[in-house]
Amino acid sequence: MCAFPFQDFASLLLGTRCLVCGAPAVACCPACRERIIGKAPHQVRRCGLSVPTWAANPYRPELARLIPAFKDDGAWSLVRLLSCRLAMAVVACRPPTGTVLVPVPSQPAAVRRRGIDHTWMLARRVARALGIEAARLLRRLNGGDAQRLQGRAGRERLSESRFLGTTCRSPVIVIDDVVTTGTSLTVSCEAMRRCGATVIAAAVIGDANLSGKY
Ligand SMILES: [Zn+2]
Repeated sequence: MCAFPFQDFASLLLGTRCLVCGAPAVACCPACRERIIGKAPHQVRRCGLSVPTWAANPYRPELARLIPAFKDDGAWSLVRLLSCRLAMAVVACRPPTGTVLVPVPSQPAAVRRRGIDHTWMLARRVARALGIEAARLLRRLNGGDAQRLQGRAGRERLSESRFLGTTCRSPVIVIDDVVTTGTSLTVSCEAMRRCGATVIAAAVIGDANLSGKY
């Protein structure tokens, strides 16, 4: 038997209040959880998005409390809820057989600070649940890449995208935790397309341009 149960550890970190409504609970109370689960995925509207993009929930009010707590405050007990919601958004994209989930790459400094790549963690859980693949096929450009991509073609590539993709023959769905302006999703899709990949859709948990009244 574990002498230091997970729930106790989470309680030490987060207190024993729902992060959304303040009711006694670890991280998220059953009522808030039900409200989150009860939302149907919706299509995201942003200028520049070149593929159908689905979000599981509005970002506010619930996810604006839960996602930062999951990423920055060690609220690990939320991983199941958040990965289930991301899975719902992916299902709304109607992924064909053989689809690969490709996460928008996290900031390396943030991953080092947090000790974990949360988007990749969610991608793997969703892929496992849906019986499809997840692969880290995108990475952020760094100073070394900028030097290697010299010349006109290289400069054009750099100006087009902050990300570099890896060739993939399977249909791709780009995923992220939250969409705000849509720029990260757009450049991610572009980077994958430049490698010859077929990007069929994008999926996120939270849509930051919608109020909770959606
Ligand atoms: Zn609550």
